[in-house]
Amino acid sequence: MLQEHIRNIAIIAHVDHGKTTLVDRLLQTAGVFRENQQVEERVLDSNDQERERGITILSKNVSIRYKDVKINVIDTPGHADFGGEVERVLKMADGVLLLVDAFEGPMPQTRFVLKHALSLNLVPIVVINKIDRPGARPDEVLDEVFELMLELGASDEQLDFTTVYASAMNGYARLDPDDGNMDMLPLLDTILEHIPAPDVDPDGPVAMQICTVDHSEYVGRIGTGRLFSGSIEAGQQVLVLKNNGNDRYETTIKHLYTFEALGREEAQDAVAGDIIAIVGVDDADVGDVVTDIENPVEMEPIEVEEPTLSVIFEASSSPLVGKEGDIVGGRQLKERLMREGEANISMRIEELEDKSGIEVAGRGILHLSVLMETMRREGFEFQVGRPRVVYKTAEDGTKLEPIEEATVDVPNEYAGKAIEVMGTAGGIMEHM
Ligand code: GDP
Repeated sequence: MLQEHIRNIAIIAHVDHGKTTLVDRLLQTAGVFRENQQVEERVLDSNDQERERGITILSKNVSIRYKDVKINVIDTPGHADFGGEVERVLKMADGVLLLVDAFEGPMPQTRFVLKHALSLNLVPIVVINKIDRPGARPDEVLDEVFELMLELGASDEQLDFTTVYASAMNGYARLDPDDGNMDMLPLLDTILEHIPAPDVDPDGPVAMQICTVDHSEYVGRIGTGRLFSGSIEAGQQVLVLKNNGNDRYETTIKHLYTFEALGREEAQDAVAGDIIAIVGVDDADVGDVVTDIENPVEMEPIEVEEPTLSVIFEASSSPLVGKEGDIVGGRQLKERLMREGEANISMRIEELEDKSGIEVAGRGILHLSVLMETMRREGFEFQVGRPRVVYKTAEDGTKLEPIEEATVDVPNEYAGKAIEVMGTAGGIMEHM
């Protein structure tokens, strides 16, 4: 049954192409101004626990209410180190908004997410933004987007995408770049018209699969995902089927949230098709299914990508210790990292047996360096070892090395250099 009052759309954009500005404008159009002050108040209004900062706006989901329809806009992480997360997040959507700068055109960094979105059969809408920019070339950019989608294996239906031209900065969207329209409504109408409403059974047994996990010191783990069937209430008894396929237990939904405007808002109930966040599933993991006790619904487990690279963090032993940060103690370092381990489920953080340091394993250089930089800004000073590949041992005892599939986009004149660099790193060229 179509839930006509809901649309779930993921947004894909290269950094700086105007995603924040566009979402702001859509929220404004829908009557909510994006102003942090106001948002905090909204969140504070809803729940005492939320006053404690941890739970506020960690999540990047927003929702826009337009013509009695709630449009959930789902942000997508752009980098391949967060690839697993991309796939999970896209599972919540029925459509995707590809935002492209009218001057720059589509950028290689968005290929990865777009390819996933297309392979999940999501319906695309292309927004060519910044058409006000001098040198904007919307027609050419449209051709480039078409070529890109063709190359990424889009279906005929997907290639028949609708295009909206916009100047988010000036607050207008148009079906034709020169039609003179001066508001954002054509984009909102296009979303309602072209993105399918969730096709779900609101009267079926409750079933929600956790796609992302946030952590708050005050309430613990918060699982977010799409309610695929049934309806759910705060206080309800549910069954949790763990992603590992073995464990299951009954629990109570302590708090239920939906996404309203810029943040999570506590809700009493929610209906299939909507995106919800729940507290109460204590050791919530990605892929866990929250379902009906009498009629449990099984769902395909989500494969969480395993760490491929690790580094050792140690307290600084430099004679100049203290020059770069205020927090230098080994104990503080350990506490900080253990906390990260709670919140950042895609990292594996363990103390070394000899207690000389903490091993942090993640998806790649970027994933690990984001953490290092965050801690550095928090005032930590520490030293890290060389990154090491995380090997696995197969059942027959062979040592397995993680392999990543990489796509390199470069202008022709740099192809030779790129092949050389990849070759040095042990790459095998599959095709060019
Ligand atoms: P994000 O990184 O994708 O979230 O991009 P932002 O929304 O932060 O925008 C990046 C820059 O592009 C900012 O300086 C915006 O003011 C500018 N920008 C956004 N939309 C437009 C537009 O429609 N036209 C022009 N000329 N600039 C824009």
